[in-house]
Amino acid sequence: MIVIPRYTIIKEKASFRIQEILDNLNLKNPLVITGKNTQKYNKDFDFIYYDEIETSDLENIKNYANDYDSIIGIGGGRPIDIGKLIAHKSKKPFLSVPTTASNDGIASPIVSLTQPSYMTEAPIAIIADIDIIKKSPKKLLSAGMGDIVSNITAVLDWELGKIEKSEKYSDSSGIFSKTIAIELMDYVLNSNLEEYPKKLVKALIGSGISIAIAHSSRPASGSEHLFSHALDTMKEKYSIDTNSLHGEQCGVGTLATAQIYLEEGKLEVETFEMLKTSLKVVDAPVTAKQLGFDEEIVIEALSSAHALRNRHTILRNGISKEKAREILEKSEII
Ligand SMILES: [Zn+2]
Repeated sequence: MIVIPRYTIIKEKASFRIQEILDNLNLKNPLVITGKNTQKYNKDFDFIYYDEIETSDLENIKNYANDYDSIIGIGGGRPIDIGKLIAHKSKKPFLSVPTTASNDGIASPIVSLTQPSYMTEAPIAIIADIDIIKKSPKKLLSAGMGDIVSNITAVLDWELGKIEKSEKYSDSSGIFSKTIAIELMDYVLNSNLEEYPKKLVKALIGSGISIAIAHSSRPASGSEHLFSHALDTMKEKYSIDTNSLHGEQCGVGTLATAQIYLEEGKLEVETFEMLKTSLKVVDAPVTAKQLGFDEEIVIEALSSAHALRNRHTILRNGISKEKAREILEKSEII
């Protein structure tokens, strides 16, 4: 069964409407999962700080919900992810109250605490207070653009999976996901960005819903996400000290794998330029240096990314380090 959000509020002062949404859903006793900086947005309910929750014990994590009828995640990435996981394990509804917009986890049925990520249910409600989100760090809002442009290469990869591996594909999810990315790119390329936080939140929620409809992360996660996961692996392997975010890495990954599509004649030059300029306009990184990685590291990441997950993409069975260097140079990532 597909679970898609029943309430999606994307407005100024939306956080004042949490009680009203709970009443509509006939929920009386929620537990809030939040962070030390975002607890101030929880005025009425019992709460636990997300960093005090032991997430490796998947069997017992449901016990946090014992005395409650629902879970609310208030914050950026982790409080939402952990709240979603507790709700899933305890079979209780989850309400997402994002305080920023750095990735599509705010609405998706996916928990990304580990790789590969974990499929759950989408939140029953998403309450996005634009006044709060507008005030969140610019770096996070730039990262959100990277997670959206990813949809372009993700959908191309999904189509490739259909053509080359007879994979199940959904036209409606594919078109929905791609259109979300194109509309946001159109907006940032032709506006003064005043409404950017609101448009970005709408796009990320749409992206999360496309995942819920497809019941797979395919519409919003392809080769560019594999590249980002490979960079995360590199961070650990070589103890690299950089604060690059998931969405930022995915944005650069999109340029890298879009370059391969360009060379195979499956993507227009104009689309590539549109992807790159959209990232630049919102100050999202477009080079390895801006992400905080050396050349050799991104080359290793791109040439090893295919092996991180059994998912057919334009990386197919992997590309050599020489080829990876060529791709990264042509796309001006290095
Ligand atoms: Zn993502």
